Amino acid sequence: MPASNSFDPYEIRKDFPLLSRTNRGKPLVYLDNAATSQKPKSVIDAVSHYYERNNSNVHRGVYELAEDAENLYRTSRQKIAHWLGVSAEEIIFTRGATEGINLIAHSFAKHHLNAGDHIILSEMEHHANIVPWQMIAKSIGAEIQVVPVLSDGSLDREKLSEFLANRGASLLSLCHISNVLGTINPVQEIIEEAHKYGVKVVVDGAQAVPHMRVDLRNLGCDFFVFSGHKLFAPMGIGVVYARNELMDKMLPYQGGGDMIDQVSFSGTTYAKGAQRFEAGTPNVSGAIGLGKAIDYLASIDFDQVDAHEKNLLQITREELKDIDGLLEYGSTVDKAGVFSFSIAGIHPHDLATLLDAEGIATRTGHHCCQPLMQKIGVEATARASFSLYNTREDVHAFTDAVKRAVQILG
Ligand SMILES: *Cc1c(COP(=O)(O)O)cnc(C)c1O
Repeated sequence: MPASNSFDPYEIRKDFPLLSRTNRGKPLVYLDNAATSQKPKSVIDAVSHYYERNNSNVHRGVYELAEDAENLYRTSRQKIAHWLGVSAEEIIFTRGATEGINLIAHSFAKHHLNAGDHIILSEMEHHANIVPWQMIAKSIGAEIQVVPVLSDGSLDREKLSEFLANRGASLLSLCHISNVLGTINPVQEIIEEAHKYGVKVVVDGAQAVPHMRVDLRNLGCDFFVFSGHKLFAPMGIGVVYARNELMDKMLPYQGGGDMIDQVSFSGTTYAKGAQRFEAGTPNVSGAIGLGKAIDYLASIDFDQVDAHEKNLLQITREELKDIDGLLEYGSTVDKAGVFSFSIAGIHPHDLATLLDAEGIATRTGHHCCQPLMQKIGVEATARASFSLYNTREDVHAFTDAVKRAVQILG
């Protein structure tokens, strides 16, 4: 377990077994945390322990084993709710952020938005926060309005205010932190503004929860989604938070077992609360793993994590500042530890291939943000994204390898 008072990435690293493997025969330097995080041993153990000792289908089992599984599953939901500052009844388990946004679009927006209503998005959204809204907008005749991103990577607040004040404004769905630009949107302030106009707000928190403590009551959003796998938990588990009053107004979009009250061919009634949105056998081990990840994070001071990751970003900039033609995307003062960049004349994929040969895992491509790529006028960027277990040695390895790559490719 990490020490509770002083944050030490070198100690934290020891809790993540995968970080000690190699990549192409070189020590792995993992800088693709915005795509997925690695998992602490406690999470891996909790998942295998579940399958070794507690595996049983949840709901309605009368034997002890089934009760054990049910208890673990329920406890996890409570832990997650507590960590987010909300009640367990407001937590819906999904496969991830993507499924979460689809759920909100189908279960809420489809029934409460009308033809001509406006769904407000921004240019910095992940495809997961664009495509589900396009699908719903098309089916109900709603209109999508897109808030531009300014040259520093921040939102055009004036345009956003204009959109919110518009009569048709109905729902705003916005990322808390951009996975490409690292921009931290002032969501609390924006939510307050939106609520003045009765606009509901969905926050895509996929990139926020690994880097900051989020108190959802404080934030005041109507919906919040994230994926477990970016938060040091297994893949295939995620969360939708829906404010109580709104949960009651939502209709299920997937039918099946576990989401019903009574089923008959003359008509079916649905279960109450979150359960109504969890049709079928859930990802019990994933939920337990997510609970464990939250146990792990509970002892970590996120102010120190934030300072650490920002420091890594700062070191990266310092060490790369003399490279000709290097352009960093996103230059807001308070950005998260995400370094998206390009180097004039060098294809990002070629760069990433050379980095890979040196053990360094970075990501290149459109990062599921093609509209943002169109906006900044590139097809792809290179990206290094930092997490709590990255060290300044990781950064040195990365920046040294970038400099060598520039020698070769430039
Ligand atoms: C990763 C990500 C998503 C999608 O998450 P999945 O785990 O792929 O469902 C959505 N929004 C942002 C900002 C992301 O970074």
